[in-house]
Amino acid sequence: MNRITRDILVIDNKPDNLRSLFSVLHDNGYNVREALTWQMAVEICKIKLPDLILLDIIMPDIDGYEICLRLKKWHLTADIPIIFMSTINDIFDKVKAFNTGCVDYITKPFAFEEVLARINNHLELRRVKIEILQLNSELENRVKKRTQDLENALKELQHSIHVRQELQTKLLDIVLHDSLTGLPNRVLFIRKLENALGQAKQEPSYKFAVLFLDCDRFKVINDSLGHLVGDELLVAIAHRLQASLSPFDTLSRLGGDEFGILLENITDINSAIMIAEEILKNLSIAFHLSRYEVFMNASIGINWGSRDYDQPEYLLRDADTAMYRAKALGRARYHVFDPLMYQEAIKLLQLENDLRKAVERQEFLVYYQPIISLSTGKITSLEALVRWQHPIRGLVPPIEFIPASEEIGLINEINLWVLQTACETLANWYEQKLIDDDSLCVNVNLSARLFSQKELITQIDTIIEHTGINPINLKIEITESVIMENSTAIKNILYQLKERNIFLIMDDFGTGYSSLSYLHSFPFNSLKIDKSFVKRMQENQENMGLVPAMIGIAHSMGMAAIAEGVETPEQLAQLRSLNCDYAQGYLFSHPLHQELIIDLISSSPQW
Ligand code: C2E
Ligand code: MG
Ligand code: MG
Repeated sequence: MNRITRDILVIDNKPDNLRSLFSVLHDNGYNVREALTWQMAVEICKIKLPDLILLDIIMPDIDGYEICLRLKKWHLTADIPIIFMSTINDIFDKVKAFNTGCVDYITKPFAFEEVLARINNHLELRRVKIEILQLNSELENRVKKRTQDLENALKELQHSIHVRQELQTKLLDIVLHDSLTGLPNRVLFIRKLENALGQAKQEPSYKFAVLFLDCDRFKVINDSLGHLVGDELLVAIAHRLQASLSPFDTLSRLGGDEFGILLENITDINSAIMIAEEILKNLSIAFHLSRYEVFMNASIGINWGSRDYDQPEYLLRDADTAMYRAKALGRARYHVFDPLMYQEAIKLLQLENDLRKAVERQEFLVYYQPIISLSTGKITSLEALVRWQHPIRGLVPPIEFIPASEEIGLINEINLWVLQTACETLANWYEQKLIDDDSLCVNVNLSARLFSQKELITQIDTIIEHTGINPINLKIEITESVIMENSTAIKNILYQLKERNIFLIMDDFGTGYSSLSYLHSFPFNSLKIDKSFVKRMQENQENMGLVPAMIGIAHSMGMAAIAEGVETPEQLAQLRSLNCDYAQGYLFSHPLHQELIIDLISSSPQW
């Protein structure tokens, strides 16, 4: 092992002493330096610190005790072990020496073995002490580093938690808000309703209302101006709605063109109504979009926030029901929900369910009502009128289920079945020679919904082909109001039907307000005057109301006039006097089951 040479400083004013010590220590492998005075000692220490100091007590100017005190005070030498050397062997002096900070005391004359042993001991002690100090500081450093590492790790962790939290907030924001308008979406709205409901249950003084707003005919904007314009309009509507509300209220986009509004801090239903009116007023002003100026009305359902609701969804459902009522009443208005409406909605749902089953179970029947030629007085045609043989309710008239089946998309199936059945029945009668005259026709009503599907013409062709009916014997009736709504598509189909020699009749004429020039552009063969005009004919004995004008219009356009709802002989006489071509009504016959109607036809009645 490579031993490090130890450095010993001997401070003694007597050169003799120094010399003898020097040689002994030097021979034992120590590096020895000597100082005769305190000043010399200081200079030596400044050059290089010794590992141990041997110090004589008796010195001329500054004695050993004082030197020891100074060395212990001086930060460079404070830790260097000092051994006193003295001829004084008094216990008092020894204690004094130890009090100045020395580590040992050797009395002269020296036994050199003892001196070496003591020096070795103290050097070893000092080495161990330094080692311990080093280890301590190393340990301290390690602890410091670890602490720093931990602190850094903690900081990193805190940062990543923060980033995560921010991300989570952002995600939550996306999940709970509508991306187009930035408004709360349905999920968040339902939560707000839930809170409001909870508060209302706890605090009787807390009042709230829910508004359900749906834009009127928004689809028209989307279809005609495109979705981008539609989106721009929705954002503008959202802004306008927000401007009509107070900061306490919540506006939400529920989806599509539907918005939900939660009104809080209100006193009664009238304040909710006032806000709805304000909204309708604000919406009625034109929207100036980047490329278009657009008008957009809305229908609003208002539901007062009763504490009796179990679920927030029901609050919204009933506001929705009220909104539908507002639409049905003519749009661009509000309607306040009342529980009766809920009963009706339930009834409608029941009806829809029953209807689906009815289609599956084929619970429909076709009744026939004769149409009389006023020139011959004989039956020329039969109008097919559908009935629903309901297992509990009995025979249900079409007015009670046709609109609902149009709503839920069952009308196609039902209506095509009627067409098929009517054609089949007539063809069968011809085949079985139950009718002698080959000019008997069947009139079938077609719903406007059928005209929006491309396959209609093919379906009609197939029915004609399969039943073998002559198209000349088929007449199609379409309600006037229906033609107005989707004219180009309908016109197109009507011309194709005309090409097939199918007669076309405008039904319920007078109820749809179509202009004459408009009427002219459609290929109708006949106008069927609505029964409400025929009814009023009698009340207005002198001029017979509008019926003469209507017959005149039909004739001037080269069409035949059919009067519907003829119930009295007077009406019949009046219509004859007006040169009306055909008539239909209870006076001749109610709509009848096919077996009864064939009996009637067979009896060849004449009026
Ligand atoms: P509509 O096509 O105008 O049919 C005439 C309605 O007037 C029939 O009612 C008929 O029973 C009734 N009626 C006939 N004569 C008189 C009368 O003298 N006085 C009175 N007050 N009423 C009379 P119904 O059968 O209840 O049908 C109502 C409506 O339902 C029909 O009006 C038609 O628009 C629709 N409808 C009936 N069957 C079908 C169908 O198969 N498809 C479609 N899409 N609609 C149908
Ligand atoms: Mg009809
Ligand atoms: Mg009619």
